[in-house]
Amino acid sequence: MRDYTKEKAMAGPRPVVLSGPSGAGKSTLAKKLLEEYKGIFGFSVSHTTRNPRSGEENGKDYHYVTREVMQDSIDKGEFIESAVFSGNMYGTSKASVQAVKDKNLICILDIDMQGVRAVKTTDLNPIYVYIQPPSLTILEKRLRDRKTESEESLQKRLEAAQVDMEICKEPGIFDIIIVNDDLDNAYAKLKQALIEEIEKVQKINSS
Ligand code: ADP
Ligand code: 5GP
Repeated sequence: MRDYTKEKAMAGPRPVVLSGPSGAGKSTLAKKLLEEYKGIFGFSVSHTTRNPRSGEENGKDYHYVTREVMQDSIDKGEFIESAVFSGNMYGTSKASVQAVKDKNLICILDIDMQGVRAVKTTDLNPIYVYIQPPSLTILEKRLRDRKTESEESLQKRLEAAQVDMEICKEPGIFDIIIVNDDLDNAYAKLKQALIEEIEKVQKINSS
């Protein structure tokens, strides 16, 4: 007979998917988790063909690659999922997730809606969290204040945000939708949603 309890324990903690419009606050919230819970969470470093923003580090925020390199890796089957967002390629490599899993950490994936749909066809079994901006007007303000986007890129992101904010209402896609109005409130809700997995890893670490 299969021992499902043992299988579950051996599978390690469930990953967490953070999705939501660009500018909703996903990386801000992910960084807070990584900072507060060192040795509990690990970030799945995606690949992208977009240029690094000031302050971003290759290998930490993303692996910055050319289209040719990325397409070649995708063709070789090295990616769990990949997508084109705002004219650039993004993707989660099998190696990025495995590196986090090998350390028995809760793997955080920051991916767009296409990525969410793709991950749903895998056996990754993450907790799906949608980070929602309070409104499109506030999202636009936050994106503009971040000063990372050209006008064209900003408009593409706002268009994608409108589509996302409709899709996220479909039942069965997300386990929880968190409105990132006040950052501390949103962060508290995120921690609450992940408490079971956090405690699982804390228990393993202390035993
Ligand atoms: P994403 O990773 O989803 O693209 P970011 O984490 O970069 O979004 O957040 C977008 C911008 O909004 C950043 O400049 C960030 O500092 C800011 N921000 C995030 N959450 C809040 C919040 N609750 N209130 C005000 N500004 C916020
Ligand atoms: P940004 O350029 O703002 O860092 O990211 C743009 C969008 O790409 C965000 O919605 C982010 O979640 C998404 N993204 C980042 N990495 C990946 C990835 O590996 N796969 C997919 N599908 N989307 C990603």
